[in-house]
Amino acid sequence: MIYLDYHATTPLAPEALEAMLPLMQELYANAGSTTHAAGRQVAELIERATVELAGLLGAADDELVFTSGATESNNLALFGTCLHPRQKRRKIVSVATEHKAVLDPLLRLERQGFEVVYVPVAQFDSLQPGVVDLGQLAEVVDEQTALVTIMLANNEIGTIQPLRAIADQCHRVGALLHTDATQALGRIPVDVDLLDVDLMSFSAHKFYGPKGVGGLYVRRKTRRVKLQPQIVGGGQQHNYRSGTINTAGIIGMHAALLGCYRLNAWSDGAESVGVVEWRRVAGLRQRLYDRLIQREPSLSLNGPGWPSEFGEAGELTRLPGNLNCCFYPIEGQSLMMDVPELAVSSGSACTSAEPGTSHVLRAIGLTEEQARSSLRFGIGRFNTEQDIELAADWLLASLEKLRRLI
Ligand code: PMP
Repeated sequence: MIYLDYHATTPLAPEALEAMLPLMQELYANAGSTTHAAGRQVAELIERATVELAGLLGAADDELVFTSGATESNNLALFGTCLHPRQKRRKIVSVATEHKAVLDPLLRLERQGFEVVYVPVAQFDSLQPGVVDLGQLAEVVDEQTALVTIMLANNEIGTIQPLRAIADQCHRVGALLHTDATQALGRIPVDVDLLDVDLMSFSAHKFYGPKGVGGLYVRRKTRRVKLQPQIVGGGQQHNYRSGTINTAGIIGMHAALLGCYRLNAWSDGAESVGVVEWRRVAGLRQRLYDRLIQREPSLSLNGPGWPSEFGEAGELTRLPGNLNCCFYPIEGQSLMMDVPELAVSSGSACTSAEPGTSHVLRAIGLTEEQARSSLRFGIGRFNTEQDIELAADWLLASLEKLRRLI
C-alpha cells in the first residue's frame, strides 16, 4: 500500500512513541495527584512539555488548553467565546471552505440566534483559489462581530489564508479571531503572535503525534479572551476543560511537534538535516503533478499553484504536500476503487461517511461533476520518490483503462 493521505492522518513518529511509552507504563500516576511523588513527577513532565510546546507556537504555557483533538478545540473556541455570559455581540464571520468541525458548531450557533456571515473565497480560476476576499471581509466585520473563524490551511486544497491581514481587520473593531490550524501545524511555521490570532485549534495526529489529543491556544498575555468552559467537572486545566489530562498523549504531541520543527530547522535544536522536510515533500508533490500532467494534459489542478522556486515556508500559499486534481470525466471513486493499493481521498476523511461531493471544491466554483471527479493527495514524511513514481504509474494506467470504458 502506498499511503498518500497525510491530511486525513499521519503515522506516529518513532520519537513520539518512545516519549509516550513510559507514561503508559511506570509513569501512570494522575498529573492532578500532587499529594504524592508519583503524581508530582508526571505533573512536572507535563509542565515541561507544555512550556516547550507553547514556546514552539510563540505562546505561554498558561495559554494552552489540551483537548481530545481539533474537533473539540473548535467546539470550545466557538461555543466558549460566543456563548460566554459577557458576550454581547451576535455576529460571527467565516468562510464556506471551513472543516465540518467549524461549520457544524456555526449552524448550531445560528439556530441559537447568532447571525453567521460566510465571506466568499477566490474561485477556481483565480490566482489563489480558496483565499478569503479581504475586501468583502472588511465590509462584513464590524462592531457587532463577536468572532471571525477562518482556518490557516485548508485540508482539501491546501490554501493558506493571509491570517495576519485578517487579524488586523478583526482587531480594529474588537472582534476575536479564531483559526483552525490543524493542517498547518508541523507543515509550515506557526507563531500565534506573528499571526496575531486570539484562539487556535490543533490536533496531534496531523503532525505525527497520537490520535485523540490536541489543543486550543487561548490568548491571555496581550488580550484576555473570555472563554466559557464546555466540559465542566473537576476543574482541571484552570477550569477551561475538566477531565483527567491525557498524559501520554500530551507528551507524545510535544515530541511529535518538536520532531517537525527539528526536521524543518524551525527550532533551536535543529539538526543539520540537509534538505528540510517541507522542501522534500514539496518536491515530491511537484514530481507527482508533473508525471500526471505530462500524460494527462486535460487534468486540472484544484487550489492554488505554487512557484517553481520556493522562498521560506512562512511565505507559502499552499501546503507543501497537498495536491488536488480533477480527472473529469473519470470519477474519483472509480479511480480509487481501481487502484486499491493507493490510499488517497475524495474529500476530507471526516465527512467521507456522508454522501455528496466536497463542499470545499463546490465553494471554489467547481461543478458537482468536477468535484466528484477530483482526488486529494496528501504527501508526507515517510513517502519516497519510489512511492510517487509507482502511484503515478498506477493512476495513469487506471485512467487509460477507465477512459476506454466510458
Ligand atoms: N479541522 C481540520 C482542518 C481538519 O483537517 C480536521 C481533521 N480532518 C479536524 C479539524 C478534526 O480534527 P480531529 O480529528 O482532531 O478532531
